[in-house]
Amino acid sequence: MNKKTLIVANWKMNLNVAESSLLVHRLDKKIVSHQDIEIVIAPSMLVLQPLSKDINHQKFSLASQNAYFKDEGAFTGEVSFSMLRGLVEYGIIGHSARRIYFHETLEDVRDKVKAAVRNNIIPIICIGESKPERLAGETMQVLHDQLTTAIYHLTSEEVAKIVIAYEPIWAISTFDGEPSKPSDMQRVLKFIRSQIKDLFGHNIAEEIRILYGGSVDNHDVLAYLSLKDCDGILVGAASLNYEHFVDIVQKAYSLKHSKK
Ligand code: PEP
Repeated sequence: MNKKTLIVANWKMNLNVAESSLLVHRLDKKIVSHQDIEIVIAPSMLVLQPLSKDINHQKFSLASQNAYFKDEGAFTGEVSFSMLRGLVEYGIIGHSARRIYFHETLEDVRDKVKAAVRNNIIPIICIGESKPERLAGETMQVLHDQLTTAIYHLTSEEVAKIVIAYEPIWAISTFDGEPSKPSDMQRVLKFIRSQIKDLFGHNIAEEIRILYGGSVDNHDVLAYLSLKDCDGILVGAASLNYEHFVDIVQKAYSLKHSKK
């Protein structure tokens, strides 16, 4: 199956409207649109609307970094997926920063995934274990629990479209991550796909896109993208550096081309 490689830039709480516009214009000049690669930009909530008018939609899709699970109501300070409908193609859900700093539970993530799908937004569901969980040998159990709860309410057709991002917390730059060894990650990505296979069968497991994220930069991106079960990368810090991000996209493209 020839899936598009997905490169997601999570800008986190960085770049105001003017800075975001500047970065996206610089990226636009350097990045050529490739039919095999999909580039998704996740700026701050405030920036989504102006950026959607600014960007070349042939080259870039947009994602929210979060949203609330109710469609409307007295939820002061929140933005719903129904408000993002038509504005973003993707929504990052369950990022470790949200689980840790904002105490999002498995059930919160499940409800947000359902809300995104209800509003025609593809969820990018982040899952990953902490360092103590890893050291205690609990990685697979943690991933199983996070994944199965997150997709609990989805039909098989809905599951086929979701994106899963495996982001071990111990490898994310925000948490002073230590780089993972790419070759160690294939086993985990394969396990995630096998969980989908057990629940929804071989075809859906093959169709689904599984990303890796955790301090990936332009130097090691090829090693991750070469893993059999890696369909793309969720990039944090390196996506704020225009040269590094362009290099990441170019490397993803060269890998796709070398396989043709
Ligand atoms: C992230 O926060 O999703 C992430 C992958 O960050 P970084 O690449 O900076 O570790």
